[in-house]
Amino acid sequence: MPIYEFQCRQCDSRFETLLRSGDVATCPECSGEDLKKLISAHAVGSGRPDTPCGSAPCSPAPMCGCDSG
Ligand SMILES: [Zn+2]
Repeated sequence: MPIYEFQCRQCDSRFETLLRSGDVATCPECSGEDLKKLISAHAVGSGRPDTPCGSAPCSPAPMCGCDSG
């Protein structure tokens, strides 16, 4: 499951969250929704730094480790 990292424009808090399609991320500090989406390195599985996971919608391809589990 992809993990997204955000930075809140209101309080500059950075946090990571799991997002399902349709979910809206909110800041855990101020509940703000004015967030800047960051590229999270945590969403990339081990051994494949070139996978698009975390930066784009990821298909359930076997080569992609982010959909396992
Ligand atoms: Zn905030």
